[in-house]
Amino acid sequence: MVSQYTIHELHKKLVNKDISAVELTKKMIANRNNVDGKIHAFLSTNDERALQAAERVDNKIKSGEVISEIAGIPGAIKDNICIKGLPCTAASKMLENFIPPYNATVIEQLEKQDYVSLGKTNLDEFAMGSSTENSAFGKTLNPLNTEYVPGGSSGGSAAAVAANEVVWALGSDTGGSVRQPASFTGLVGLKPTYGLVSRYGLLAFASSLDQIGPITKDVTDAAIVLNSIAAYDKKDSTSIPQEKKDYKKALISDVKGLRIGVAKEFFGKGIKEETKEAIKKALSFYEKEGAEIVDISLPHISACVSIYYIIAPAEASSNLSRYDGVGYGYRKPGKNLIEMYINTRSSGFGEEVKRRIMLGTYVLSAGYYDAFYLKALKVRTLLKNEFEEAYKTCDVIVAPAASGTAFKFGAFKDPLSLYMEDICTVPANLIGAPAISIPVGYKDGMPLGMQLIGPALGEETILRAAYTFEQAHLDLNKITKGEA
Ligand code: GLN
Repeated sequence: MVSQYTIHELHKKLVNKDISAVELTKKMIANRNNVDGKIHAFLSTNDERALQAAERVDNKIKSGEVISEIAGIPGAIKDNICIKGLPCTAASKMLENFIPPYNATVIEQLEKQDYVSLGKTNLDEFAMGSSTENSAFGKTLNPLNTEYVPGGSSGGSAAAVAANEVVWALGSDTGGSVRQPASFTGLVGLKPTYGLVSRYGLLAFASSLDQIGPITKDVTDAAIVLNSIAAYDKKDSTSIPQEKKDYKKALISDVKGLRIGVAKEFFGKGIKEETKEAIKKALSFYEKEGAEIVDISLPHISACVSIYYIIAPAEASSNLSRYDGVGYGYRKPGKNLIEMYINTRSSGFGEEVKRRIMLGTYVLSAGYYDAFYLKALKVRTLLKNEFEEAYKTCDVIVAPAASGTAFKFGAFKDPLSLYMEDICTVPANLIGAPAISIPVGYKDGMPLGMQLIGPALGEETILRAAYTFEQAHLDLNKITKGEA
């Protein structure tokens, strides 16, 4: 099956003319049509566009032009990233019929590189969730075992790649939504440094935390997709001015002298034994390879979930105020303007989104602002300082990507216990740091993920550490390499 290959393997096949981009795209469309009825990774498809893009790639290859590494290799885009002329629903009834009149900057970048996308993928409504159960259009199943969630909120993107429906996908990560689904499906998920990838055209959830990132089958592909989307963008005021880098240069299988920080706070009581064991083994591997394991202390990790669930809903309550039935999106009429707002927002948003809007409005309201929002911002600064201090003695920090393997549908009865599951991933968003999740082991046939968190703009360091581990443990990629 062609779809089990990686971007870098397929790129070689295209350039060597072993397969054409149109052939590849057709095969993958057929495969997606077979598989997606069961997995439900996609919310919409755009095959004609995909085939036209593939044809452009084939013409370039025929005329001897150099093509980008991602050109002609089918991927998928999370349905909260705007593509001109295609639906963008954020998995919300509110935007069921919304067709953006513009491209997100990442899409502009990818278009220049002749990308091919087979469609828009499912997510938790407005990216709020950890299981894709909060989509207004039905859940996505984990292709490794359909009784389990694929993770979230980018569960559709992860499932599409893990089921070999596409080769790569874009997700967005506000508190772990790229890394956790990657870990639940045996894939690689990368959240870039805040500001490295433009947020323009990403439907905003929590603007100080949101980043777009790749979900791929291996670390090399993560570097390739990052190469395609990282760029300064004047349309995003938090974009970092940057030179174009080739992140593939960081893929060196060597960690000699690398200082790897371990904080006991990341391995507390909620983390399953199998996760701790797998990461312990990874640390011995690194040590054997010449890395130095350094003990660090991050006491405020325990406060991360609390401050994340103040800051993210606060920003969301403001960002989502635009969905009022006036400018665009869904409208439910009422007797007067106020009633129309109430009707629209009560029936257009799902339960979790409404919960977050109320939470956010509450923590920002007069009398509670200082006690909650302001205090959370102060703790966020303490956390940043703590990490900065830690990075004086280490180059990269190791943590679980999630407490354990994927959980079953409906496993969490109350929202709070599901929020607690985000403890491993939210710190990187709160401090703006880059973090990658890679497969580190298996428990009962389901994958476990390890996270490598770097200092701001430390993508090369985490890629190098991830690549070194991966190259010595290629068996961990077995599921997505076609055995499933
Ligand atoms: N699970 C987290 C939340 O529900 C993270 C979501 C995300 O990264 N988009 O907010």
